[in-house]
Amino acid sequence: MTANLLDFDLEGLAAFCERLGEKRFRATQLFRWIHQRGAGDFAEMTDLAKSLREKLATSARIQGLTVLTQQESADGTIKWLFDVGAGDAVEAVFIPEDDRGTLCVSSQAGCAVGCRFCSTGHQGFSRNLSTGEIVAQLWFAEHFLRKHLGTGERVISNVVMMGMGEPLQNYANLVPALRTMLDDHGYGLSRRRVTVSTSGVVPMMDRLGADCPVALAVSLHAPHDELRDNLVPLNRKYPIAELLDACNRYLEHAPRDFITFEYCMLDGVNDQPEHARQLVDLVKRHAGRGVSCKLNLIPFNPFPQSGLTRSPHSQVLAFAKILGDAGIVTTVRKTRGDDIDAACGQLAGDVKDRTQVGDRIARQRTVMLKPVPATAGAKETRE
Ligand code: SAH
Ligand code: SF4
Repeated sequence: MTANLLDFDLEGLAAFCERLGEKRFRATQLFRWIHQRGAGDFAEMTDLAKSLREKLATSARIQGLTVLTQQESADGTIKWLFDVGAGDAVEAVFIPEDDRGTLCVSSQAGCAVGCRFCSTGHQGFSRNLSTGEIVAQLWFAEHFLRKHLGTGERVISNVVMMGMGEPLQNYANLVPALRTMLDDHGYGLSRRRVTVSTSGVVPMMDRLGADCPVALAVSLHAPHDELRDNLVPLNRKYPIAELLDACNRYLEHAPRDFITFEYCMLDGVNDQPEHARQLVDLVKRHAGRGVSCKLNLIPFNPFPQSGLTRSPHSQVLAFAKILGDAGIVTTVRKTRGDDIDAACGQLAGDVKDRTQVGDRIARQRTVMLKPVPATAGAKETRE
């Protein structure tokens, strides 16, 4: 099998060129052809020596992903479903805004974490994506959009690893993909415009801080362990106090940055004023100094099997006000692309569950909905 050049960051490509008996600097030319110009065929690379092009044609390939479907939302959001073989398909979403173009990228076919409110989690887990499969989503989207929009200019200014999967459970393949996104000869995205979102894989947060400290979003969703254990099962392994310690260690690598805490607003589950006050205490007082952070409240995007509902807008605003009044910068995420199921947590692709994760969540649902403390009572008074 020939090497897929999308699997390599620039360093990896330089090593590959050396193995072919070529000078390392050839890798820069090749890398620019692939990522900056979107070349998918060595014959296009006219400034490379013919002998090198022939060598590449026999030992390497540039293999993107097959697009199964493309859907465009009324708000301009575009969602692609990509075939990754063996019955698995993953999704990527382009979200245009006035001042930026964001691509939401998948890191795994499915996800093994099994969060209650996430459609990907309910599907279970099939496998990690390779570096090439992660990069191919950006490679395709960037060059497709340039043609589609008829501009020679860069279209995607931001990447968020918020598609299907838990990126920090696919660390080895994630990091070269991030490096390709950041590389000036690749996509040239600045460190702060590439965001890794994690449900809290603590040891890998430490490694990411040391290896490639991009912007970090942490999916918090609850102000105390009892509730978070239920919503994000990984919390039983890495509870909130350990997670926040890891956030502070991460910020030591990028002292002027902040962590974005994501908080999915679930009606009657985690959206009460009391939860907001607990959250303020947590992020301001943790370890005596708090965590430098912003809060991003995400209206829950429903999907059939979840058994959960979105918090009313008034409840989200009341929650945001408590945080804001306490001096915590808080935003409410605009829901984009929900008419094509492209909003957060709605990405489901098509995944063969090769684990029992999907079944396990389905079985747990009834257990989950009963014993959430501090909300059942509050919900009664509200209704
Ligand atoms: N696995 C990573 C990244 C992918 S999920 C993580 O969990 O952070 C990206 C974001 O979408 C996370 O913050 C996740 O909590 C949120 N999300 C998942 N399901 C959702 C839903 N149904 N509605 C709204 N947000 C959701
Ligand atoms: Fe996995 Fe993230 Fe979905 Fe949780 S929210 S199941 S970690 S993709």
